[in-house]
Amino acid sequence: MVKIKGAKMKPEKLELCLKNTPIEKLRHDQYRRIWVKREDHTGIEISGNKIRKLEYALKEAIDQKSTMIITCGGIQSNHARATVAAAKKIGLSVHLVLRGEEKEAIGGNAFLYNLMGTKVTFLNPSDFSNHESYMHQLKVFYESQGEKAYIIPMGASNGIGNFGYASVFDEILYQEKMMNVNFDAIVCTVGSGGTYAGLCLGSVLNKSKKKIFGINITSDETYFINKIRHGLDESKKYLTDQTAIERIDNCEINIIDGYVGGGYAVADKALLRNIKDLATHEGLILDPVYTGKAFMGMMDQLDLALKGCENILFIHTGGLFGTFAYESKYIDWGL
Ligand SMILES: *Cc1c(COP(=O)(O)O)cnc(C)c1O
Repeated sequence: MVKIKGAKMKPEKLELCLKNTPIEKLRHDQYRRIWVKREDHTGIEISGNKIRKLEYALKEAIDQKSTMIITCGGIQSNHARATVAAAKKIGLSVHLVLRGEEKEAIGGNAFLYNLMGTKVTFLNPSDFSNHESYMHQLKVFYESQGEKAYIIPMGASNGIGNFGYASVFDEILYQEKMMNVNFDAIVCTVGSGGTYAGLCLGSVLNKSKKKIFGINITSDETYFINKIRHGLDESKKYLTDQTAIERIDNCEINIIDGYVGGGYAVADKALLRNIKDLATHEGLILDPVYTGKAFMGMMDQLDLALKGCENILFIHTGGLFGTFAYESKYIDWGL
């Protein structure tokens, strides 16, 4: 098990995913400073970044003797699919609260969470803005029926979930030694903020000097700086090392805004063409909702925020199943 340094009373996790996911260097000249950590290789049903956070959240759920999980997301939520898969593996049932209509829940992740069997409540966008209170009402209902429900917030991005990418940060340090390489910068996608917050937490606990950049694919920089700060504050409750707690307050949060495009999950032709180029050159597949936008942003920032960084580690946070929902767009645009 990977130890989080500095965290004397660090939370524990379940072991549900494949660890030491590969780190690959890209081959083509235009990508020459880029390495990719394949967090899309954490496992099949549970693939992507969410399982790292779920390992901690689900451990807490089990410790609290929970019998079921309530969580939320979009119709094509990777988090929803990974949560259903992970919960099934440990014998818990799941109730999903999703943004959208039942008739849209086809293909990709929707096919998979339905295949694995889960209860789903679909909320229209305006009702979904109250999804947190809705999940709380569900919890009250289930507990009146004798269940013990555990709520996992959007993307498992909270104080406990953050420890997932803190442990991935330790893994990266270990892999650097094994591979004899030094990454001066780490770049990840920011969707609900937990991957970024976790990497920050790992960096602080290890007193690392690496620069960590997050590229947001929804909302804006101010929103995420606040959300990530709030998440890190929650994480402090699980730590006893007072100096580490102080360092968390002073850690730098670098969110690079400007790559949201038309909005969350909205893909334009340039984005799909970029994804296709990388797939053609390197045999590496990114998704239009998260990693595709962040990768495009990273390439755009090579001589700006990333200037002077020799080895840049991009975290491939997954999303393969979500790409299937875009197949017809590729065809429509002749890509
Ligand atoms: C959820 C998700 C992200 C965003 O990670 P957060 O921790 O929510 O910021 C990035 N990529 C993929 C594929 C995801 O499913």
